[in-house]
Amino acid sequence: MGRMARRYPELVDGFGRTASDLRISITDRCNFRCRYCMPPEGMPWMPKDQLLSYEELTRLTSILVDSGVRSLKVTGGEPLVRHDVPTFVRLLRALRADLDISLTTNGYLLAQQAAELASAGLDRVTVSCDSLIKHRFAEMTLRDAFDEVMKGLHVAAEEGLGPVKLNTVVIEGVNDDEITAFAELARTTGFEVRFIEYMPLDAQQAWDRTKVIAGAAIIEAVAERYPLIADAHQAPEPATSFRFADGAPGRIGVIPSVTQPFCSTCDRLRLTADGQLRACLFSLEETDLRGPLRQGAADDDLAELARSCVAAKWAGHNIGSPSFRQPSRSMSMIGG
Ligand code: SAM
Ligand code: SF4
Repeated sequence: MGRMARRYPELVDGFGRTASDLRISITDRCNFRCRYCMPPEGMPWMPKDQLLSYEELTRLTSILVDSGVRSLKVTGGEPLVRHDVPTFVRLLRALRADLDISLTTNGYLLAQQAAELASAGLDRVTVSCDSLIKHRFAEMTLRDAFDEVMKGLHVAAEEGLGPVKLNTVVIEGVNDDEITAFAELARTTGFEVRFIEYMPLDAQQAWDRTKVIAGAAIIEAVAERYPLIADAHQAPEPATSFRFADGAPGRIGVIPSVTQPFCSTCDRLRLTADGQLRACLFSLEETDLRGPLRQGAADDDLAELARSCVAAKWAGHNIGSPSFRQPSRSMSMIGG
């Protein structure tokens, strides 16, 4: 516990950005089938022997922490479908006491696991929820799971896994009529609702620019009903966040990845469940760490591989330009 200093140089790219926020995907599997993410029949899942064990993931994470990473987000697929996530959280927490460790989940299994996750050292959760209307929630996720997700949110807050954040992907003609209802949920619960622009990362490759509701329009829709005060912007955090002008609890955030990309200040790095490092969500290339790790590479060599992955990070994703190409792996395989 408690390394005092970095062993390796920071992970800096050619544009001067430093990677300090690592998203660790622990599985590509999921118990939901959100239409904007996965087809109803699921995906060809990664072969078991290609998935990194918790020990392997922890060793790679430890090297990245020794290279300056300070914030860890456990994700997937749906992370809570993997066996014994608290054990993994405990391994991560043992790396450094001051790491910020959070988990992004669809919330279905959260109520039963929240207490153990909190005692393992998890700081916070983000729960994805795209509708507050039970039957629409079922249509969007293809699972009749609204009540479990609501319970998960509240149990997580009670167990101290807050401030609880909600991720809400807004899609034109699907759930854009619920923006103020989500703002009301924030006000009555104290949760932070973060509206996410719909991105071209669905496995079906059916993304359509005309279905994207711009972050600015979302904030305008909330502010019309409940006036907002913007927080001082804290780069590199992409969620431009707001509080309610009347002092009500809760916050509103927006992640405008499509209409106002935050690439120029992006500090994120992603490790997939099969041990590939990605400098950008939209990268077309990955750096294989699993192969070298399993062939006995030394920590120094793995740190060097990570450094060259980050060094080659591109300036930005260029969604909307003719040169944009959707990556072959979709959101659930990369780790959102
Ligand atoms: N299963 C967990 C969950 O849903 O929170 C974690 C993984 S999921 C891939 C992470 C986040 O990506 C979720 O908030 C989800 O809504 C978001 N996401 C998935 N596909 C997306 C898309 N095409 N555009 C925008 N966000 C997307
Ligand atoms: Fe599963 Fe999350 Fe993708 Fe929904 S967004 S299908 S919950 S991985």
